[in-house]
Amino acid sequence: MKRVLICRVTKVLLLVLAVGSTGSVAQSVSTAGAVALYRELLNPSFDAKDVYQVREVSILREDLHISISDGTIALIREVDGHITGAVFEGAGEVLLVPPNRAERTSLAHFTGSAVLELPFQSAYLRFSDDALVNELRSGFRSPAEDAQEFITRWKDPATVLARGDALPILESMSSSTDAGSRFLHLRIGGTPSGIVDLFYDTDASEQISVAQASVLNDVSFYDTWTSFPMRSVRQAAGEEDPAARPNYDMAGYQLRAKVEPPTDLSAEAEFTLIPRRSGQRMVILELSRYLKLSEARVNGAPVEFIQNEAISGSELSRRGDDLIGIVLPEPLAKDKPVKLAFKYSGPVMFNAGGELIYVGARGTWYPNIGPSFSTFDLTFDSPADWSVVATGKQIASSVANGRRITRFFTEKPIGRAGFNLGKFATASASAGKVEIHAYGARNVEQSLAGAEARAGLKPDPAREAQQIAEQAAATVEFLSAELDPFPYSNLEITQLPGRVSQSWPGLIYLSSTAFLSSDERRALGVREPYVELLLSRLMLSHETAHQWWGDAVDWVSYRDEWILEALANYSALLMLEKLHPGDMKTALNYYRAELLQETKNGVIAEAGPVTLGRRLTSSRFRPRMTLFSFPP
Ligand SMILES: [Zn+2]
Repeated sequence: MKRVLICRVTKVLLLVLAVGSTGSVAQSVSTAGAVALYRELLNPSFDAKDVYQVREVSILREDLHISISDGTIALIREVDGHITGAVFEGAGEVLLVPPNRAERTSLAHFTGSAVLELPFQSAYLRFSDDALVNELRSGFRSPAEDAQEFITRWKDPATVLARGDALPILESMSSSTDAGSRFLHLRIGGTPSGIVDLFYDTDASEQISVAQASVLNDVSFYDTWTSFPMRSVRQAAGEEDPAARPNYDMAGYQLRAKVEPPTDLSAEAEFTLIPRRSGQRMVILELSRYLKLSEARVNGAPVEFIQNEAISGSELSRRGDDLIGIVLPEPLAKDKPVKLAFKYSGPVMFNAGGELIYVGARGTWYPNIGPSFSTFDLTFDSPADWSVVATGKQIASSVANGRRITRFFTEKPIGRAGFNLGKFATASASAGKVEIHAYGARNVEQSLAGAEARAGLKPDPAREAQQIAEQAAATVEFLSAELDPFPYSNLEITQLPGRVSQSWPGLIYLSSTAFLSSDERRALGVREPYVELLLSRLMLSHETAHQWWGDAVDWVSYRDEWILEALANYSALLMLEKLHPGDMKTALNYYRAELLQETKNGVIAEAGPVTLGRRLTSSRFRPRMTLFSFPP
């Protein structure tokens, strides 16, 4: 299953973009103020008068120790009365000891050592931390001699890197002092391990992290060597999981969307934001970079916002999200709700050909603060010959003047809302009181249709819809007896172009390949018995099991995602074992072989602790095959 990930370590995401691209970043402007400040942060400049010889500086931020022994340093010009960065050449060292075994293991995988003790010869620092400037100044000696040449050399790298750091610095700078918000990005070069990024960010859920960007065979990686909550947060949390305390909650999400197949969506969204701490003046949300925000309001009044423009060209930009920063007129107060409203539009849906649309391919389709449960009231306006299927229960549907208006309301708060759009044939089944509908189109997407046509085949997913509805009903019945009653009153299963499937509360995107016959899958090159089993039986029951594991309850941090994947698959296998014991063996043998796969850096099973979650897939460990994909 491919989950919709709302990455809390936003700075890391942005950095990948900054590293891999030469595109530009622009911002949408409503009025001056924070946006003007953001622009200045994006365009750092130096003054030859602010370049010094520096000696013996020691900086300690929680677990992170940076020392500078000797060299040349230039300060970035003040922005709004604050120095926000510096560049350095000379001799320095960073020292960091991860606080637990999982993180030390991770670090050792990448560096060969459980402790990070890294000398460096150059450094880029970007920060929102006035005390840090004073600490640096304490080591300043005489003005540097080759000042002009030094700052000329650093101008371009500092500008490129600013794209990843401007938003978190602004977030930190705009907080009131009681938020205690601090940010530091240190990028060091000339180390025995190449270029390395270190972050100290009090607005992140894991405040300390170390990472490295790399490109292997044209694939970009951003390897997180280690990441953890800083010392004071660990101490304050005691036995509690420090990641389990969100900055915000969300309630009463209302969304009206106009969809124009094959690609366009325009929408108005509104929800209540409940701050769980005081002092933040900037709220950061995630939204597909294919969607452009045209308006943001807080309690009815327009506010400034910043949206990083899509960086074209890279594969990352095709599926990634932008970050949106909205700047509030005054700091948020803990537990005092505010109403946020947005208008936005863009080509967020992907046309897969054959009138099939991949709605989830281009990032998140509504402004989202990250993991939080809310009710959703969704209204879609679509051409009358298309149908919309969404999370929640359909409570109204009407057709007038060639348009169809469909409204869905969730029976209880859910963690994420999705929809699918198509020219579908519908089949129904039921499991006790749960209504189940399956939706198949009359064809498959272009990328599959060609191979099928060459084999003389013409797949018709609509033909399979009844069989799929019944299979889902049997799964809901089986799992309701094993687990709890089904969490929602209905389950909608819709054909989705592509090879991945995905579960949303009460809604499943099921890959087109699951709507094919075995012969039709053979025509696509499916030979492996496990993959055939996966596509014919296991995928649908795995996604159905996610209705309990992942939709009714969700993970708090990426470190827990494995629990939900494991429980969903275990639930699906329980059913398989009962109905087709031989298939169960095929699956287990396949998983074993996958874990024992040799790579040049060792066996996959030894890539690290499961609590590292998605970090386990890195430039060092790249499994050839993931659970729900198969070779082309
Ligand atoms: Zn899954």
